Amino acid sequence: MNGGKTYQIRTFGCQMNVHDSERLAGQLEEAGYVPAGAGDAPDLVVFNTCAVRENADNKLYGTLGHLRPAKDANPDMQIAVGGCLAQKDRGEIVKRAPWVDVVFGTHNIGALPVLLERARHNAEAEVEILESLETFPSTLPARRESAYSGWVSISVGCNNTCTFCIVPSLRGKERDRRPGEVLAEVEALVAEGVLEVTLLGQNVNSYGVEFGERDAFSKLLRACGGIDGLERVRFTSPHPAAFTDDVIDAMAETPNVCPQLHMPLQSGSDRILREMRRSYRSSRFLSILDKVRDRIPDAAITTDIIVGFPGETEEDFQATLDVVRQARFSSAFTFQYSKRPGTPAAELPDQLPKQVVQERYDRLVELVNEIAWDENKKLVGRKVELLVAEGEGRKDTETRRMSGRARDGRLVHFTPTGSAIDRSVRPGDIVETVVTYGAPHHLVADGDLLSHRRTRAGDNVEAGRRPKTDGVSLGLPSFGRPAPQPVTTGGCGL
Ligand code: SF4
Repeated sequence: MNGGKTYQIRTFGCQMNVHDSERLAGQLEEAGYVPAGAGDAPDLVVFNTCAVRENADNKLYGTLGHLRPAKDANPDMQIAVGGCLAQKDRGEIVKRAPWVDVVFGTHNIGALPVLLERARHNAEAEVEILESLETFPSTLPARRESAYSGWVSISVGCNNTCTFCIVPSLRGKERDRRPGEVLAEVEALVAEGVLEVTLLGQNVNSYGVEFGERDAFSKLLRACGGIDGLERVRFTSPHPAAFTDDVIDAMAETPNVCPQLHMPLQSGSDRILREMRRSYRSSRFLSILDKVRDRIPDAAITTDIIVGFPGETEEDFQATLDVVRQARFSSAFTFQYSKRPGTPAAELPDQLPKQVVQERYDRLVELVNEIAWDENKKLVGRKVELLVAEGEGRKDTETRRMSGRARDGRLVHFTPTGSAIDRSVRPGDIVETVVTYGAPHHLVADGDLLSHRRTRAGDNVEAGRRPKTDGVSLGLPSFGRPAPQPVTTGGCGL
């Protein structure tokens, strides 16, 4: 019905949104749409929005304003707005931008093709926002962005109530997917040549709460360990309050689970953690890191930190710096607190002046970078195995390097030279090399490669194919067409 109509999806926000966009693309292609070519004017533009950043709405309305002339020139063009900001602003969006055709929320992304059709047929805007999840997003088809690495949702929503975070009110209570369905999706991806999966949930450690199984997440990790051909398993995000030893054991004892942990700290001050309604304290946070390093000595641990939460004193901030010094993160996503309308923290007195927040932020970033650089320097001379990546090294053409991710998640720019190379190195292939330089945010490996393994993922990248998975129950996956999509990312709830 939509044969030949072209679409473009513009994604903002966290990995959850990036993955939802893969589902949106899968559905649109099933409905007959094809990705718009670079530089072409699409017949359909979908915004998958994020409500987390301050001014996100101003930016959205600004961008929608820019699209108005294109819509006036081509009335058949359609514009749809979904995601967290749509869930929050609802009908307001079509009031402020009446040239928008469809508004849909975070609970009904499966309805997009129908809503587009209805808007076209009725020649008026369709706004449909549901209060709770209609269909688990993973039951929808997906067109995957990567031939070698895939996201797999294990849960959506969050039962926590961090006072700075809008996620619980927009994404709702946690809903867990059954382990059998998760594993079937992982297997389907692996059958298509995918080598790495990232299990995705707002709080992966509470996975199982809905179906009453306490160790469900560690069991899931171990089950991933039994999938032939799955070389790397990652997950995001865990929560320090719910992080249990059985997960550390499963990480340490399952060879394909990567030695990497993203553990959101948010603040090192116990008083601020209480205000944030984060139920762990800094001592517990540090003890988890000790246990992880004891069992997995080479683990790279990353984090999220918010600076300038309302009421944060210099003493509180010093407590954060202290934890950062002890934790020795390999990198950190650092955020300046800003009010997010609709969150409890936005109502707190004692919001800090911008210059205080900025000055603390600068000091924090300096410390984080210094530690990350020190840690990276220690890796010089170390052999690393890399999954060769696409588009991760902006200067690669200039430097004649390629880029890849080590098993611990670190970004490594390497020189693709030496007799170990089998024909040519492609994204999706696996290489081994030795680190020759450590920079604050990446490593460099400039010697000849020690080994190169061609993979099916590499073949698929070379042929321009991307996996396209059906929804749950997962019939046979097939390949779709690639199209790069613009993406911005943030941390859990940020
Ligand atoms: S910050 Fe993370 S854990 Fe806290 S409420 Fe938001 S999504 Fe849940």
